[in-house]
Amino acid sequence: MAVISIREQIANLIELQAIDAKIYALNKKMQAIPVELEKKNKEFEAKKSGLNALEEKNKVFLVKKKDRELELAVKEEGIKKLQSQLFAIKTNKEYTALLKEIEGGKADKSLIEDQILGIFDELDSVSAEVNKEKDDLAREKKNLDKDKSEFDSALKTMEQELVIFNAKRSQVVPKIDRHALSTYERILKNKDGLAVVKVVDNSCHGCFMNVTHQTVNEIRMLDRLVTCEACSRILYEENG
Ligand SMILES: [Zn+2]
Repeated sequence: MAVISIREQIANLIELQAIDAKIYALNKKMQAIPVELEKKNKEFEAKKSGLNALEEKNKVFLVKKKDRELELAVKEEGIKKLQSQLFAIKTNKEYTALLKEIEGGKADKSLIEDQILGIFDELDSVSAEVNKEKDDLAREKKNLDKDKSEFDSALKTMEQELVIFNAKRSQVVPKIDRHALSTYERILKNKDGLAVVKVVDNSCHGCFMNVTHQTVNEIRMLDRLVTCEACSRILYEENG
């Protein structure tokens, strides 16, 4: 393998960094998609269990209503029975006592009727809530399906872009010294996809710390790859 000059290697590393920055950004976006989708799924499931809870509440009120209605029927039957006994009564005392009992039964009945009316009110408001939630949920489901298909097509596009960038990458990689490449890739991995940075006005454009004059001189000598003392990224000077 022919020796590649530092000047050439830096130029090639800059080219590679531009490609890797795109690959890095694409990967990041692609990884974010399932996370985002999972979040949306969870929100939807939470809404769905909210609706289920409301429907359960509705059922409880329906059961209560049925119980009370049954109770009312029994009470009404009892009153009727007492009223039918009125005709068979012989004494005033018995008559008064029976009337009192009937009155008591009627008072109980009216109490149960009030309770039933209260349950009707509850049922109305729960039903309204259930209907609203159902509408919301149907809308959310549509949105979710739309998001899913958008995410799918975005993923496909990004996968295609990735193939192109990887092809470009494999054209540049052979133009870089193996040792320099492994240094570069190590930094790339550790430094969030940014391994090669400019020095502008004695400042590293990776970490924005000052770079010593000696380091700048070393960069200009083009003897070896020079890295930032603060962030370890490979440094270069534009037009250098
Ligand atoms: Zn730095």
